[in-house]
Amino acid sequence: MSPEKSIFSKIIDREIPATFIHEDEKCIVINDINPKARVHLLIIPKKPIATLFDLTPDDKDVMGHMMLLLPQIAQSQGLDGFKTQINTGESGGQEVFHIHIHLLGQ
Ligand code: AMP
Repeated sequence: MSPEKSIFSKIIDREIPATFIHEDEKCIVINDINPKARVHLLIIPKKPIATLFDLTPDDKDVMGHMMLLLPQIAQSQGLDGFKTQINTGESGGQEVFHIHIHLLGQ
């Protein structure tokens, strides 16, 4: 049985709305619905990897892609500095089990 589709997969498939900042073949970037900073974006791979614990060597490309995208996206938002966060596992504060990088800037 396939696992339930994550809220982020539903956003990727346009089943629920979100404000898209960027999309390419590997990932999307959206506004966080509950921003903790003036700029609070989520970088989300299209591949539904649940947590950092679930990464395999096959995921190096998409993870590297998202890391390279972070400073470009930050600059496109007028930021000259930013914070990133990846919550991992329930005890790590993760609520949505589809890997995402928080990008926060003031
Ligand atoms: P985490 O605790 O790292 O799993 O963070 C999940 C993040 O997803 C939180 O910051 C939520 O505000 C955000 N979030 C949940 N649902 C949505 C949504 N429909 N659109 C945008 N962001 C969302």
